[in-house]
Amino acid sequence: MNAAIVTVGDELLVGDTENTNATWLCRRLSDRGVRVRRVTVVPDEVGEIARVVNEYHAEYDATVVTGGLGPTHDDVTMDAIAAAFGRAVEANEEAAAWLAERGYSADDLTAETTHLPAGCRPLRNVEGVAPGAVVESTYVLPGVPAEMKAMFESVADEFEGTPTHTVAVNVAEPESTLLDRFTELQERFEVGVGSYPGEHVTVKITAADAAEAERAAAWLRDRSTAPERSEP
Ligand code: ATP
Ligand code: MG
Repeated sequence: MNAAIVTVGDELLVGDTENTNATWLCRRLSDRGVRVRRVTVVPDEVGEIARVVNEYHAEYDATVVTGGLGPTHDDVTMDAIAAAFGRAVEANEEAAAWLAERGYSADDLTAETTHLPAGCRPLRNVEGVAPGAVVESTYVLPGVPAEMKAMFESVADEFEGTPTHTVAVNVAEPESTLLDRFTELQERFEVGVGSYPGEHVTVKITAADAAEAERAAAWLRDRSTAPERSEP
């Protein structure tokens, strides 16, 4: 399974808010074995949101959208999702009933809060007010991180890929000198290789089979210089 993430918000594009939702979703989806192929940030504009959602829906198995669900005029995500799927936005009785259960009367809520794309599956917001929605394989979640996380967990089971196994090997050599060994690693073993320079180079070896990842890691350890252990 592969997926794309669309984070919505003008505040992200001017650098006022750090895009922690994207990082968190990448981690959670990857942990479930889902390959995240895109992360995109778009402004709070119907046309921009609808355009990428439309494209990603055609291209990827699932699309996760966060942000812009609130009732204020700048929250247009549900309108954009409806537009992307050629649907109307209409009062959602199930969502209205959940909010009524929690003591919100129709008068307390602006209509937008319970207006969702026609025919969607509404998602409860246990940490906040504005409901989310699933339209085909597009999951629309709130922007507030606590609300987004709780809502994602309620549908996490629907994201299921092939888990991969990763083994990290630390190497105290310049990255450029490792290139031949990376090539050979990928020729000898069924693995992917990622290289992350820092104080030393962290080489991440990923495979569908845990034993294969371990074999490849052992091969590299035997042929490279490990960082000196710091004294306790
Ligand atoms: P609300 O109902 O509160 O308006 P919302 O779903 O409309 O929620 P936004 O208005 O987009 O969400 O964002 C609400 C807050 O959540 C922002 O002020 C920001 O602090 C935070 N937020 C939004 N998007 C992200 C993101 N991608 N990463 C981290 N924080 C975010
Ligand atoms: Mg908002």
